[in-house]
Amino acid sequence: MNRDCSSIFALLSGYLDRDLPPVECAELEQHIQSCAPCVAFVDSLKKSVQLGKGYAPASDVPALAPETKQKLQEAYQRMLAARKP
Ligand SMILES: [Zn+2]
Repeated sequence: MNRDCSSIFALLSGYLDRDLPPVECAELEQHIQSCAPCVAFVDSLKKSVQLGKGYAPASDVPALAPETKQKLQEAYQRMLAARKP
């Protein structure tokens, strides 16, 4: 069950909100592990939101501000666009 990169962002948003069902979270992480551009993106993402390792439903990490998510979405779309021939 592979998702393409463009569908990953939808999951990523829930992931960052700590609002992603574990099954989808696993899918997300699986995709990220096998997709270099997504690895790079998520790495920078994790740094910027201090997400830490893996998924941990916890309340000690604040949800992203809407404008932060907006920026992430734009960055992701740019990354996807840049991959196209
Ligand atoms: Zn990808």
